[in-house]
Amino acid sequence: MLNPAFEKYENDLIQLARTVWAHPEPGFREVESSRAHIDFLRKAGFEIEENVAGTRTGYVAMWGSGSPVLAFLGEFDALYGLEQQADVAEPAPIPGQNMGQGCGHHLLGVGAIAGALLLRDFMQERGLGGTIRVYGCPAEESGSGKAYMARDGLFADCDAALTWHPSNFNMVSTGSSQSCIQCYFRFTGIPAHAAGAPHLGRSALDAVELMNVGVNYLREHMEDSDRVHYAISNPGGASPNVVQAFAESRYLVRSTTNPKCQKLYERVKRIAEGAALMTETRLEVVFDEGLSNTVPNFVLEGVLDQAFREAGVPVYTADERAYAARFKATTPVEDQLSDLPRAALDTGKLSQNVRESELCDYYVETMRSDVCEMGSTDVGDVSWVTPTCTANLNCYAYGAGSHSWQWVAQGKSDIAMKGMLKAGEVLALTGLKLLESPELLSQARQELERRLGGEPYRCLIPDEIAPHYYD
Ligand SMILES: [Zn+2]
Repeated sequence: MLNPAFEKYENDLIQLARTVWAHPEPGFREVESSRAHIDFLRKAGFEIEENVAGTRTGYVAMWGSGSPVLAFLGEFDALYGLEQQADVAEPAPIPGQNMGQGCGHHLLGVGAIAGALLLRDFMQERGLGGTIRVYGCPAEESGSGKAYMARDGLFADCDAALTWHPSNFNMVSTGSSQSCIQCYFRFTGIPAHAAGAPHLGRSALDAVELMNVGVNYLREHMEDSDRVHYAISNPGGASPNVVQAFAESRYLVRSTTNPKCQKLYERVKRIAEGAALMTETRLEVVFDEGLSNTVPNFVLEGVLDQAFREAGVPVYTADERAYAARFKATTPVEDQLSDLPRAALDTGKLSQNVRESELCDYYVETMRSDVCEMGSTDVGDVSWVTPTCTANLNCYAYGAGSHSWQWVAQGKSDIAMKGMLKAGEVLALTGLKLLESPELLSQARQELERRLGGEPYRCLIPDEIAPHYYD
């Protein structure tokens, strides 16, 4: 048995996670994964609302009644380009497949379900009232699923949201993440023979290039914590002897808070307008995604920390360590040491663990931090609406971080399943502490209100934009 707390559910939970691993699906198209979750939860006695927030695959599963309302956030989407055979410690694509669970979301979703089942048991044993909700959140990797769910008010009556992420470490997440707006800048010009009649052409590709030059000059006049990245998503064509009549770039604009991100986005848009003016092309801005910054909650982080200490971390067998050693050997230890979580309280101890162990086998204490880490997640949108906290559970060997073939390969292992079940235990214990001491929930709410300082939640995605995907 991988975790005694889950004696009666363990086999079914592991089976569910392995089923989702075997059917990797992209954001908003996680049809089989979502169906497997929903069937499982319905059988377990949860009431299900499907197709939430205008999505095909988002759901909310409910059990219990009245307040408080505790949310467990789950995900299930996969990543393109990360097809990989299970348990093979070298790149080994699966023929005919172009996706893989490179961020461990097959574990994330089922770990959230595990937490909900165990908390329900605790509530029944102790006669505690309240509502448990499992949120099946689509399209985290690309699509901003939770932002649409938050925009639709699905978290508005929650007292707290608990989540976790598969990781190379056992630790409480702390700090913030960046607000992010993603959009396409499309320029339309006039085609012409580039040698014969260049004076008749108006180049959309020139507009893309000039916009990028303008943005690169903008960088000197942004805050250090702002980030702007772009890709030329359509250069117009491969023929230099044609003046390109259409070209498009895809931009990500990030800052530490939503209002700052929106201001930076307006500056980038003005540069695009300038590029269109210079080249006599027409500009169309197509909004794609928007993610809010994460609002930390030290009250909930404290409760999660206590629950983590009580639950402990997974304990590994000699066979599991030998399995992990094969994956740890796929990257140099110096690289592993260069990518340690900055919030770790004792980096000396963590470095030693990375040098001496195949995988993280202790609880890494963290400093409570407001620091905004570079990168974005749609958990941020939830954290604006209800106090939110995130645990990290080790599910993989040292040697590679998220979005790697190594994570896909280890996704069905006992190590991964142990991490997933332990995550369920940590989240359920956190929920139990909140139900037994409701004053913690009001303290967490007060902290959220203090941090927001009266700024209301405004989803960065305009109302007219519906859940969508671009390939
Ligand atoms: Zn992820």
